Amino acid sequence: MDVCPCGSGTYATCCGPLHRGERDAATPEELMRSRYSAFSKGDRFYLARTWHPRTRPDDVSADPSIRWAGLTILGSAVDGDTGTVDFVARYEGPDGPGELREHSRFVRRGGRWVYVDGDVA
Ligand SMILES: [Zn+2]
Repeated sequence: MDVCPCGSGTYATCCGPLHRGERDAATPEELMRSRYSAFSKGDRFYLARTWHPRTRPDDVSADPSIRWAGLTILGSAVDGDTGTVDFVARYEGPDGPGELREHSRFVRRGGRWVYVDGDVA
């Protein structure tokens, strides 16, 4: 079975349709999951498309020396057109396993949720 990198169902029905542009993320949490999966698969076009133009770096390519190993959503909140997601992403890096814990901010822009920025804990 083609398990989705974000750990929620199969890729074909979870983050796949978002990556293929068949539908947009309905919530900041769904967008966060799909962005994690895009990092995992090295889909920089999706990362760029879901990044606020004000904060998007010029180079959004994922670090090839890191293999993403799992995502845990700790919590999420939506208030109108803004939202936050707290998560832990585990990875295997050149120096061994590690984890990234972040409080991410999202806004809804033209009807679509986009990632703005985050605070790494
Ligand atoms: Zn997924």
